[in-house]
Parts: sequence; C-alpha cells; structure tokens
Amino acid sequence: MVNTVTFSNGDQMPMLGFGTWKSAPGGLKYKLKLAIATGYRRLGLGPWKGAPGDVYSTVKDAIAAGYRHIDCAHVYGNEANIGRALADCFKAGIVTRDQMWITSKLWSDCHEPKEVQPAVENTLANLQLDYLDLYLMHWPVAIQKGSTFPVTPETLISLKDLPLLDTWRAMESLVDKGLCRHIGVSNFSIAKLQNLLDNAQRPPEMNQIELHPYLQQPSMLDFCHKNNIHLTAYSPLGSADRPASLKTANEPILLEEPTIAAIAKSHGVTPAQVLLSWAMQRGTVAIPKSFNPERIRQNLASAEVVLTAKDMQTITALDLNRRYVDGAFWQVPGGPYTVENIWDL
Ligand code: NAP
Repeated sequence: MVNTVTFSNGDQMPMLGFGTWKSAPGGLKYKLKLAIATGYRRLGLGPWKGAPGDVYSTVKDAIAAGYRHIDCAHVYGNEANIGRALADCFKAGIVTRDQMWITSKLWSDCHEPKEVQPAVENTLANLQLDYLDLYLMHWPVAIQKGSTFPVTPETLISLKDLPLLDTWRAMESLVDKGLCRHIGVSNFSIAKLQNLLDNAQRPPEMNQIELHPYLQQPSMLDFCHKNNIHLTAYSPLGSADRPASLKTANEPILLEEPTIAAIAKSHGVTPAQVLLSWAMQRGTVAIPKSFNPERIRQNLASAEVVLTAKDMQTITALDLNRRYVDGAFWQVPGGPYTVENIWDL
C-alpha cells in the first residue's frame, strides 16, 4: 500500500505518483523548442526514447495498476490526453475524482498575475477537471507570454521586473476560488522559499525538486521539515531519457550505481525499487515516469520494499550533489538568469 503525506487541512497525497514528462503526444513542437533553446542542433532529433503519443493509454494503465497520483504540467504538452484518460477512468468507474491526486504546474510565460487564473483554467479544461489537488509554480523564472524556452535574452523577464511574490499572490487567490486545493512551488531554493514564507498569506505547501541519491539536498530536507513544506522528488530514477541536450558527457548513471544494485540484490528487488523506497522512507513523495507496463507496476510495488537503517546510511554516502536537470536552459547570454542565481548558489 502506498503511504501518504498529510497536509495541514488533513488532505492526503500518495507518496508515489506517476510522472508524465516526455510523454508528449504530438510533442514535436515542444521538443523542437526545447532542443533549440538548449543548443541541440542535430537533425533527426530523437532526444527522447519511447514512443510519443501514448500518454493516454499509459495513464490509463497506471491508474489500472493502482496509481492514484498523477504529476502533470502545462509545458509537457500532453494534458489534454491525460484529461481524456482521467475522464474515461471516471466514466468506467475505475476510480472517482476524489480518489485521485492531480498536480499540475504553471509555466513561466504565465507569471504575470493576470495570466495565472487563465493558465490554471486552461489546464483544468485540458485535464477535464473542476479543481486541481496541487498547483505549482514550475520554475522561479519568468518569460514573455507565448514563449516556452528562451532563445534570445529579450524573451526573459527578470525577477526584479516580475517578482515571484506577485505571481504567488495570484496563485493564492486560486485556492480562495476553489480552483486548486493546495499551492506550492518547484525548483525553489531555500532563499526563495524563505522569501515566500516571510511575505505570503498562504505559505507554500510543497516544493517539487530533483532528489535522488546523487542529489540528496539534506539542508533543503531539514528546512522544509522545519517549515511544514512537503517535498516531491522529481527524476527519482535519474531521468535517463531526458533530452540529449540536457545531458553531459560521462555523467554518472543512477540506475547503474553498483551500491544500489547490491542493496537491490540483498532484498531481491530492482535498483529502481530501491531508489523509490529510499525516497519514500526519507519522507518525500516520488514521481517516477515509465512508459513500460511492467516497470509501471514494478515502480508501484516499491511501496512494499522496506530498506534497513544500514541501507539508508549506505545510500547517504552516495551523495554527489549532482543535478541532472540544472536549469542551464534558462541561461542565455545577456539574460537575467544563471544557474547560480536560479539555485542561489
Ligand atoms: P525518472 O522518473 O527519474 O526516470 C525516467 C526514466 O527511467 C525513463 O527512461 C524510464 O524508462 C526509466 N524507468 C522507469 N522505471 C524504471 C524501472 N523500474 N527500471 C528501469 N528504468 C526505469 O525521470 P523524469 O521523467 O525526469 O522524472 C519523473 C517525473 O518528475 C517527470 O516525468 C515529471 O512528471 C517530473 N519532473 C518535474 C520536473 C520539474 O521541473 N518540476 C523536472 C523533471 C521531472 P521507461 O519509460 O522506458 O520505463
């Protein structure tokens, strides 16, 4: 059984969710934009493995397998197909709306306060829902309306010109209007979280960030624990299928880590199951993405894997402070964002 984290109003979010990035139907336009923004110049593309276009059936498979939490985002370009899958599951009586936890994210081109409500309404229409369980500000970065990723510095808007707090205040009103049950952020540093905590009417209840044994972020874990902010671990398996433009040569491959393989062998489970169990045993929510029916079930079964205190300690020693998704695609010469100021390094 999948455990839950509990929000201050008593709502419970399953600690294992289903990731949907890179599951884009007709996602060629999005792939091209990301590819160009990140300097991916090869023709033929193919930065993603897996067949595009089947997010509809994959989400249906995931729900049939027992997932009750789906992680979505406007920028993944696939919310309409996820919406069809949800609607069909509700209609067929497989699950009810209140049995599902649905998260989505505000893209950076809708940070202007007046754009926030239309953005969530668009997401709700695509997902065929009346409300979201959780809505996150996807990145602490603003870009001109209609742009997805920066190509020139002029497309970006600095945080001085469009403060995160202005966007956050607009997100707060979405809860008052019943469009979202909870609001939070993603890819926020401790300093940016602190700024919201100091000034917001509604504190952020979630920070969705990259977390796995190579990027354990213990200070963030401690800070969020002390401030009642839940953490969701994205790319919990190391995101091996992310676009080639987001990869570096000779990067460590998390799913091939020998220490994880040894722990997996000792429990008779797979390395992926160890990684997901580790994330949940740390009190974080994990949202692995898979397109493969067998791995979809395998990942869910990680909820039954119990690691020992010694396993947990052994994994602590693997930290490399290594990001796979480092936000460098926001960095264009002459633009306001750098990897350093995004993460407040
Ligand atoms: P991930 O879940 O860490 O890894 C996905 C890769 O692992 C795919 O290649 C998948 O292949 C493979 N895989 C899945 N289960 C496996 C298993 N049991 N054994 C071996 N390989 C397995 O990567 P991610 O998609 O980057 O992260 C997960 C989710 O987090 C995303 O989909 C998205 O929802 C969210 N996310 C959010 C942000 C953000 O900025 N907030 C950033 C990144 C990701 P198959 O599909 O072939 O199984």
